[in-house]
Amino acid sequence: MPTEFEIIRKYFDRPAGSARLGVGDDAALLVPRAGMELAASTDLLLEGRHFARGADPRRLGHKSLAVNLSDMAAMGATPRWAMLAIALPEANEGWLAAFAEGWFALAARHRTELIGGDTTRGPLAICITILGEVPAGQALLRSGARPGDDLWVSGELGGAALALSHPEIDAAVRRLDAPEPRVALGERLRGVANSAIDVSDGFVQDLGHVLARSGCGARVEYSKLPRSAAFEQLRDPALERRCVLGGGDDYELVFSAPSAERSRIEALVPALGVALTRVGAIVAGESRLDLLDAAGRPMVLERGFDHFAT
Ligand code: ADP
Ligand code: MG
Repeated sequence: MPTEFEIIRKYFDRPAGSARLGVGDDAALLVPRAGMELAASTDLLLEGRHFARGADPRRLGHKSLAVNLSDMAAMGATPRWAMLAIALPEANEGWLAAFAEGWFALAARHRTELIGGDTTRGPLAICITILGEVPAGQALLRSGARPGDDLWVSGELGGAALALSHPEIDAAVRRLDAPEPRVALGERLRGVANSAIDVSDGFVQDLGHVLARSGCGARVEYSKLPRSAAFEQLRDPALERRCVLGGGDDYELVFSAPSAERSRIEALVPALGVALTRVGAIVAGESRLDLLDAAGRPMVLERGFDHFAT
């Protein structure tokens, strides 16, 4: 049975990169590059609430970092450093090796360095804090949407939620277990988008945060919302609506941008290999979402996932 310090050394202590001081001391030391602001975000994942008991450790390593990278993407920040606080019920070396493999594989792709954390025994819980850099004043805020902006969605919605009721659909399960944070897109939207958020709790709920912070409304055509191809075969419009509008865990970006930026945004599609779909517009007035069906009639809204809702 490895001790806490053996676990850290064996699984989480990697050669230092750009941090002045990484794992091993009382604190890490970081020097942001000149002209950069630090973007900081943290996410707590609990077994039984955010992932199922017995979840595959490699996928868990990937996902626990992916959700944090997604927050950097939504800010237009470039991820640099992460801290990992983890509670483990036991020191299972097979589990730790697989978790670390999933974590560091994604971290390497995004040049994100693990600079510290905390390791303790307890019910399985994973808390990651991520730090990124963004040129001063250029972060993409929830509060930046302006009437007249186009509203855009990256990739597709609903796949992760679909996996919960249809675990036999591989493409949906991949969306749930192995989301790809839209980091490169977030970086390219600096100076282009006025506002951005990532879809973690569902399109309607997350767009609602942007509208509330920006003091604007939005008009969205439901039929334009990009969605997982699997819905076509299922022919279950109620499930499709719930997943596309209220399903969480997709980690796509919803962003608004002046219509003058359309061609620059469309040019990102081939450059990044990610679909970008214009789904509606930001409108003046109270922070209300008008969702229209294919015939232009208002639709009744479904709620997103709220941890404190009954
Ligand atoms: P302290 O007693 O100051 O909290 P610890 O003994 O908990 O320090 O941790 C020793 C070093 O290992 C610290 O640099 C800490 O940041 C790092 N560390 C602990 N757990 C992890 C982890 N899961 N991943 C990365 N670094 C870790
Ligand atoms: Mg500690």
